[in-house]
Amino acid sequence: MKYISTRGDRTERGFSEILLEGLAPDGGLYLPVAYPKVDAPTLQRWRGLSYADLAFEILSLYIDDIPADDLRTLVSRTYTKDVFGTEAITPLKPLGEGFYLEALSNGPTLAFKDMAMQLLGQLFEYELGRRGEELNILGATSGDTGSAAEYAMRGKKGVRVFMLSPHGRMSPFQQAQMFSLPDANIHNLAIEGVFDDCQDIVKAVSNDLEFKRRYKIGTVNSINWARLLAQVVYYFAGYFQATRSNEEKVSFCVPSGNFGNICAGHVARQMGLPIHRLVLATNENDVLDEFFRTGTYRVRKGAETHETSSPSMDISKASNFERFVFDLLGRDAARTRQLFREEVERRGAFTLSPAEFAKVADYGFVSGKSTHADRLATIRDVFGRFGVMIDTHTADGVKVAREHLDEGVPMIVLETALPAKFAQTIREALGREPERPAALMGIENLPKRFKVMGVDADAVKRYIAENCH
Ligand SMILES: *Cc1c(COP(=O)(O)O)cnc(C)c1O
Repeated sequence: MKYISTRGDRTERGFSEILLEGLAPDGGLYLPVAYPKVDAPTLQRWRGLSYADLAFEILSLYIDDIPADDLRTLVSRTYTKDVFGTEAITPLKPLGEGFYLEALSNGPTLAFKDMAMQLLGQLFEYELGRRGEELNILGATSGDTGSAAEYAMRGKKGVRVFMLSPHGRMSPFQQAQMFSLPDANIHNLAIEGVFDDCQDIVKAVSNDLEFKRRYKIGTVNSINWARLLAQVVYYFAGYFQATRSNEEKVSFCVPSGNFGNICAGHVARQMGLPIHRLVLATNENDVLDEFFRTGTYRVRKGAETHETSSPSMDISKASNFERFVFDLLGRDAARTRQLFREEVERRGAFTLSPAEFAKVADYGFVSGKSTHADRLATIRDVFGRFGVMIDTHTADGVKVAREHLDEGVPMIVLETALPAKFAQTIREALGREPERPAALMGIENLPKRFKVMGVDADAVKRYIAENCH
């Protein structure tokens, strides 16, 4: 399988070439030249597979430059009961008749980002080893992504992580999760500023091309194709658990921010998985809900971006969205480039033509929005009726899913985090503390490793240079 850019660069690259990359050189996102179609006998055979075997089958359709035996080993090291808590890896929990949660957040950081990041850690170590190279991952985090990256890369050969976070602004639990890691290749830099200051430092360091090349600076952001690909697997795994035969359809509801998770659902549907609807749920930051209702995509300004109680969905623009639009436009790269490069950059928005927008229905997408009050009500309702405690992001998903039920079609809501991470809102909704997995009891009391630094890109560069061997 080869990969091309959504903005017209048709240089065909292999999976291993794009694995360690972010954007394509023309500023677009990578996609496979075509989606492999899964025929009925293959789907039937996959139904009986373990999660790791299923992952191997799906990944090998997209990866032909890693020997099959090696890929199988990497995948089976990743998706284990040890790391994800159950044999099923992503078990379904019923909430009433034909309505399920798919558990994606039983990995080390209790959020679904572990599903992809854990595989990325294995792939990075393998590829760097094969090339005899090293990589220094530089990132900024306000919580989820940074910790998933650190837990994926800890102890991996050839990889170091330098993760910037706003000093004193993460929750005590998130801080403890990241700062208690003892691994020598993980560096936590607590910056005396806000999250935007951290991001500005990452940009300043990455824009120094000489420094970037010399110190082999890379990232693990949500546009990475390998992350998206790893997420395709659990749509198949969820489908097989909710149905008895491949004649049946299911719908998925996905709490969304950067459009990475639901884009993987779109890929699964393009491969032929019988998905009826892909229901996109946003919080108050409703950029994507607005698009799916009106055909207008309007990037929000900083001041218009709300800080909500489902913070991992607080986005001003959706960095993976261009992938879907490219497919929606019949893979017209010139039109995609016009919309995302010219219109979004010039006036911060674009509107599809009525003919273009009409095609959205063919792709199964519908959307809805949820607010803080909806989250509280949904958390209470689900706990009261089913005794299941859900987190704030999953609550957004449940709320919107209930507005898009179709008779006879099971609905699967992707559970993207566990309530333990969002204690304050759980207390507000239920008047009690969230449940916490036994392994994480008392992590706030573990010794912490982090270095406090000012808002100073040069100081960060010096720290990287001194800790790069
Ligand atoms: C990242 C994240 C999301 C949003 O996922 P996208 O792929 O960015 O759409 C939703 N919920 C949680 C808990 C997350 O960490």
